[in-house]
Amino acid sequence: MKGSVNLLESASKQMITNEARQCWDEMQSMDNIVVTAHRSPDGDAVGSLLGLLNHLREAGLNAMGILPDRFPSFLSWMPGLEHVLIHDESPQAANALLMNADAIWCLDFNGPSRTGKMETTLRNAPAKKWVVDHHQNPEEFADRLFSNPDCGSTCELIFDLILGWGQLDELSLNAAKCLYTGIMTDTGSFRYASVTEHTHLILAHFLNKGLSQAEIHEWVFDQQSLNRVRLQAYAISSRLRVWMDKGVGMIGLTKDDLERFGYQAGDTEGIVNSILAIEGVKLAIFAKESEGRIKMSLRSVGEINVRDLASKYFNGGGHIHAAGGVFESNSMEVLVSYIEESIIGQSH
Ligand code: 5GP
Ligand code: MN
Repeated sequence: MKGSVNLLESASKQMITNEARQCWDEMQSMDNIVVTAHRSPDGDAVGSLLGLLNHLREAGLNAMGILPDRFPSFLSWMPGLEHVLIHDESPQAANALLMNADAIWCLDFNGPSRTGKMETTLRNAPAKKWVVDHHQNPEEFADRLFSNPDCGSTCELIFDLILGWGQLDELSLNAAKCLYTGIMTDTGSFRYASVTEHTHLILAHFLNKGLSQAEIHEWVFDQQSLNRVRLQAYAISSRLRVWMDKGVGMIGLTKDDLERFGYQAGDTEGIVNSILAIEGVKLAIFAKESEGRIKMSLRSVGEINVRDLASKYFNGGGHIHAAGGVFESNSMEVLVSYIEESIIGQSH
C-alpha cells in the first residue's frame, strides 16, 4: 500500500533500529515488564504509557503501568487504566513492581527526577531501563535511549516503535486511541511546528482503523467540570497581569484560588496557552501554588526560548516553546517581583 510505504519512510529512524527490535525480542523471555511516565502526567505521558501498555498486554506479555501521581480526570476514559498503579496512592505495591521488573519503559521524561517520589526506587531498580522521550538533554540513566527532541510527542515515537517492530496490523483501536490523545494534546491539536507529514500519516492510519477523532476531542475537551470552567474563567478575568510593552502575560493562582474552585488534578491545564492568545503576547507564564512552592509553566512563540528561562530562573527545563520549573516560595508577590527583576527586565 502506498500509504504504508510513506509512513515507514517518514518515521523516526531512531525507532526502527536493531536496538529497538532487540527490546521486543528480550521482552519475550521476561516475566515482569513495567511502563511508566512522568509525574503530573499529561495526555502524552498517559497516552504513551497506555498505548504501549495495551500493545504489550495484547501481545500476551505480562506488563503493568505505574504513574508517579494521579492523572487528570479528562483522561479517565482511556482504555487500560485498570492496569496502572498510582505510586503516590499505593507506594509499597508500586515499589515492589518496580523492584521486581525485568524491564522498565520510561516514557516522556528525560531523567528520573521527573518522577517525583518514585525517583529513588526507579534509580535503584535492577531492571533494564528503556527510555522513549522527546525532551532535550536526556540524563544518562537508561540502558537504551530512544530520544528525538524534534518529535512533537512521545506517542508519535511509540507509534514508530511499533511500526519498527512490524506490528501495525496488531496495533489495536484501544492503543490507537491512547496514542492519538497524546499526539493531539502535545501538539495543541495538531497546530504546532512539530507536526509533520508523518504525524498526519499516523492520524490517517488511526482513522483507517476506525478511530473516531470527534469522540476523543469531546472526551478530552468537552467533559469539564463546572468548577474547572469557572476556575479557568476566573484565572483570566481576575488573575491575569500583562506587561504589554514587553509582550509578557502572567497568571498566578494561589492555594486559596484553587480551593475556592474545588481544584482537581488537571483543572489548570491549558490556562497558560490562553495567555498566548492575546495579541502581542510572546511569553506566557502560569504559576500555581502547590505544596508550599510555586509550580511554573512557561510558553512562548517565536524567538523566546523558555527552556533556557525555566532552567536559569526556575530550576527546570523542557522544550524551546514549552517548559516548566519551580519557584521556591509560596508568595505570588515575591514571584512577581522576581519575574519583573529577571525576565521582564530582560525581554524586549
Ligand atoms: P507543563 O507546563 O505542561 O507542566 O510542562 C511543559 C514542559 O516543561 C514539560 O513537557 C516538561 O518538559 C517541562 N517541565 C515542566 N516542569 C518541569 C520541571 O519541574 N523540571 C523540568 N526539568 N522540566 C519541566
Ligand atoms: Mn510529551
